[in-house]
Amino acid sequence: MRFHLGAIPESPDFHPEEEGWQSLREPSPLVFQLWALPVAILNVVVLAILWKALVPSLPIKNGALAGIGVLIVLLSFILVHEIIHAVTAPGWGLSNHTLIGAWPQKFVFYAHYDGAMSRNRFILVFAMPFLLLSVVPILIAAFAARLTQDGTIPVILQFLVFINGLCACGDILGIAMFARQIPASAQVRNQGWRTFWKMEEGSEVVCRLPVCRLPVCRLPVCRLPVAGVPVMLDDLI
Ligand SMILES: [Zn+2]
Repeated sequence: MRFHLGAIPESPDFHPEEEGWQSLREPSPLVFQLWALPVAILNVVVLAILWKALVPSLPIKNGALAGIGVLIVLLSFILVHEIIHAVTAPGWGLSNHTLIGAWPQKFVFYAHYDGAMSRNRFILVFAMPFLLLSVVPILIAAFAARLTQDGTIPVILQFLVFINGLCACGDILGIAMFARQIPASAQVRNQGWRTFWKMEEGSEVVCRLPVCRLPVCRLPVCRLPVAGVPVMLDDLI
């Protein structure tokens, strides 16, 4: 794993268009952020429902420890979040292809894998920080609250669950775009910020829409090659 300062570096040996990779249809960064906003709210609502259902509310017996814990969460959760992305990529973060970056001018942190992986692995890379830092801590808090009858550990974890849940809105939106646009058996690779996908040699995807039982092609009616995913009217135009 390497560390990098600045924008996500381009891969000089990767020429996606020339090598037959298809580019993911992505909104501009500004529109992406607008879309991510309702996803952030949705994340928080879902996490709040889970929290309320599972974690009993208890008095905090150790306020100082709670304060220190919340401070540690605030200072470290972004780095831990990015390390989880990096470690879920092929090579488990140990390869030279994985890097964690900070782009101070844009106040962006990222993990980047310079290589191809399966679509499902790609989705897992995006999902893992949300699962490990927002979903699993709810279960730990539920367990700790019942075991200690003290709200100190739950309040620290509550902070982690919700602040990470908010920050993972882009990851969740990304997952929705990958699942909708990229066939499950495809390979996925990034070139800088952009995402490309390609079917394995010899494999083919057929759209399940009755009017569109065509393999992946560039015909206007079959622009959505994702098997089993309902095609919206605007995708057919
Ligand atoms: Zn993330």
